[in-house]
Amino acid sequence: MHIEFFTLFPQFFVSPLGSAIFLRAQDKGLVGFGIHNIRDYTHDKHHITDDYPYGGGAGMVLKPEPIFEAVEAVLLGSVPTEQRAVVLMTPQGRPFSQAVASRLAGYDRLLFICGHYEGVDERVRTHLATEEISLGDYVLSGGELPALAVADAVIRLIPGVLGSAESTCEESHAAGLLEYPQYTRPPEYRGLKVPEILLSGHHGAVAKWRHQESLRRTMIRRPDLLQVANLSEGDRRLIVKLEAEGLAENSGL
Ligand code: SAH
Repeated sequence: MHIEFFTLFPQFFVSPLGSAIFLRAQDKGLVGFGIHNIRDYTHDKHHITDDYPYGGGAGMVLKPEPIFEAVEAVLLGSVPTEQRAVVLMTPQGRPFSQAVASRLAGYDRLLFICGHYEGVDERVRTHLATEEISLGDYVLSGGELPALAVADAVIRLIPGVLGSAESTCEESHAAGLLEYPQYTRPPEYRGLKVPEILLSGHHGAVAKWRHQESLRRTMIRRPDLLQVANLSEGDRRLIVKLEAEGLAENSGL
């Protein structure tokens, strides 16, 4: 997969793309990154990338021409349209989720347009972007951090990017539930004990406990997820049982 970022602040990407999973994915030859400075695609003497909004109002709006030219230059002779997505990062977009990450992981080429200031000229949205993604219901100053967040969630789903010991299928949101509590050594710390069952070595019993705690945790913290999760009959019975018992967990919330 190739991931291209279009930005006014290319330096934003230098450290993240040179670290951790981004670096590993590149080293393994599974993902390539391109950082494109929108300013390089201006033609005027002052390299102007933003202008006052028509109709007045505060702030500046990113001009369409350099963004269109940058994206078109990078896409020239590139993969067919169905194998690529041009994503506009915007708080007005579709909320990002694990399901969206899985879908994006199926493309060969992902392009992220990072806005700034008051945002981006509407024509970029209507005639260049193929989709719009929001990181959440809040406003950030730029699209760089949200684009990196989306790229992180996507590339870890590409087969081979994570080590075989790291699994994406059991973690939070993969099956529509939150992950069960995790513990590591020591078995007792400041009098706080790891649940006995995890030390038992009984894989079946551990798996059952984890599934129950995953359900319990989701019931307490995110009951909204249960409405849409794929629950078995056994899960539904377990939910009734947990409800009857009272849902107490050691909540850090
Ligand atoms: N005036 C705009 C907000 C602009 S914020 C509005 O009211 O909708 C500046 C830029 O930051 C946006 O163009 C977008 O690229 C990015 N951005 C801000 N918040 C975001 C969010 N929640 N998700 C994705 N991108 C965001």
